[in-house]
Amino acid sequence: MDNLSPNQQSWSGFTEEQLQRYSRHIILKQVGGKGQRKLLQTRALLIGAGGLGSPVALYLAAAGVGTLGIVDYDHVDLSNLQRQILHHTDDVGRPKVVSASETIKAINPDVNVIQHSVRLDSGNARELMNQYDMVIDGSDNFPTRYLVNDAAFLTKKPLVHGGILLFEGMTTVFIPGKGCYRCLHPVPPPPGAIPSCQEAGVLGVITGIIGSIQAAEAIKLALGIGEPLSGRLIYFDALDMTFREVKFRRNPKCPLCGDNPTINELVDYDYFCGVPSSE
Ligand SMILES: [Zn+2]
Repeated sequence: MDNLSPNQQSWSGFTEEQLQRYSRHIILKQVGGKGQRKLLQTRALLIGAGGLGSPVALYLAAAGVGTLGIVDYDHVDLSNLQRQILHHTDDVGRPKVVSASETIKAINPDVNVIQHSVRLDSGNARELMNQYDMVIDGSDNFPTRYLVNDAAFLTKKPLVHGGILLFEGMTTVFIPGKGCYRCLHPVPPPPGAIPSCQEAGVLGVITGIIGSIQAAEAIKLALGIGEPLSGRLIYFDALDMTFREVKFRRNPKCPLCGDNPTINELVDYDYFCGVPSSE
């Protein structure tokens, strides 16, 4: 083993370089070489390469999650850099999927990044999700959030959910059959009822805290270890520096995952909500 060049595979199926890169995972009893191989075989779909998507992508890439699909049709704006740490000053004006892909590759060339430079909609969401093991929501608007929730449920993919605004954030994991976003909020709020980050502002670092929790949950799901953040919502307030946990269950009256579902197909939420989705 000692005489192998960095790219030759050792007895364990890892290259020497991989053994070094992932050594802090491999020595963990709950991960080991078997867990690291699982991570390398995992296909995760990230919705949005923005505030939440940035820390999620950075940590999943560093952890060696083998395939990262990124859905984003937006370009990097100077005002994004306050929190979207995948992108750098030189990237302003470039497509986010391209900038994200370069950053990820620079961290870990093992990661296969698939750029989905499309706007997620009712026509492509299920087909996209079907190609992955799990979905991580880094979107920042209600039309996309509902679309992601519904498509993940209909394609039976676990969904790592996150949201941020002002000085607060929340996160949870929706496992199909164990509750979804519509169990909590059956329909989107009317247009303009809740301000967006663009309108109301957000403390940039909040995205790092919530996004890092999302990354931890995604890695746990991939490894099949610990207790997923399922059936529990975590609310975070940076001003008080408090985390609050609220339990929830599948709502039998949920229009999507309830006993008598009324939603069996994806809805055109842009039209439904009357506001364009972005980021
Ligand atoms: Zn539900």
